Amino acid sequence: MRILALALVLAGCTVFFAAASLRAGDEQEPKPKPSPEEALALLKAGNLRFAEGQEIHPHVTAQRLQQAASEEQGDHAYATVLTCSDSRVPVELIFDTGIMDLFVVRVAGNVCGTDEIGSVEYGLVHVRTPVVVILGHTQCGAVTAMVRSHRGDHQELEANIPALLNGIAPAVARVLHAAGDEALSEEHLVDASVRENVGQAMYDLFLVSPTAREAVKSGKAKVVGAVYDIGTGRVEWMSRAVTKEALARAAADPDRVTERMAERHALALTGLWEIQDSDLPDVKIRVAKKAVLFDCDEPMLRVLWRGVIARLAGDRLELMNLAGRNAVEISEDGRTLTWPGGVVWKKQ
Ligand SMILES: [Zn+2]
Repeated sequence: MRILALALVLAGCTVFFAAASLRAGDEQEPKPKPSPEEALALLKAGNLRFAEGQEIHPHVTAQRLQQAASEEQGDHAYATVLTCSDSRVPVELIFDTGIMDLFVVRVAGNVCGTDEIGSVEYGLVHVRTPVVVILGHTQCGAVTAMVRSHRGDHQELEANIPALLNGIAPAVARVLHAAGDEALSEEHLVDASVRENVGQAMYDLFLVSPTAREAVKSGKAKVVGAVYDIGTGRVEWMSRAVTKEALARAAADPDRVTERMAERHALALTGLWEIQDSDLPDVKIRVAKKAVLFDCDEPMLRVLWRGVIARLAGDRLELMNLAGRNAVEISEDGRTLTWPGGVVWKKQ
């Protein structure tokens, strides 16, 4: 079952990244896109229609489905939106958009970790969206949990939630520090933290993505902060100063990532590799001349594993770390690979 789940995940990723390779071999010129200002105006107008009950529900017909199946999303989608998973924030609806309009990244608390930043980079470069919106929302549960935790109300959390909340912690800490001894209501603190958390996500994006920094500096794309009011349906757009401040802070940070492209490792790896010390103990990878096989002879020409793409180049397996960090480590004897997340593969 685990193998099946893994295969499905990998298959999904294969489809996701196939677009990039198709584009590379495509002779056609990419179609012109709206300018950042025009794209932002489209989003603003769409949200206004939604909030006022005047939706036109564009791009949802069978004709649009046909287009989706036969055309490049990069020729259509005009905004990348990073927002919360919250069911009260239905992204396409609140901007009155349809199929192939938005490239959406959703994660609880709209935090900006490696996976989210990789997705935003994909949206900027491969889907060519002229705008990136970092969208927080009122009454965010993840932000509320962090505010409560900072105020000493420690709840028991499931194993993987603290790592998620860590992304929100600096924003909440700043809000509480600014509040000092003032007795502010939880509602007020959550509101302020939601805003601060949008700025934090922006800073995190700029810190590790030279691509995002360059896109904004060159004027090719805009990164905009916003807060969605779950009660009124209105998006409140943050000022340019929020983006400018996050960009300046990240650009001045000595820890910022400066390499735009991910590290590449080209290795002669033909053979059978067995995963070790992992929660997926049954997975083996066989690297043959023309295919990478995952266990049960599942042919995978291209796989994504915790931020790493493996693909065949001739009889060589090429590993590329998409995050540009936590590089794949190869032992000196070439028999052990350690992938991000501490997954170890041994050559048999
Ligand atoms: Zn939320």
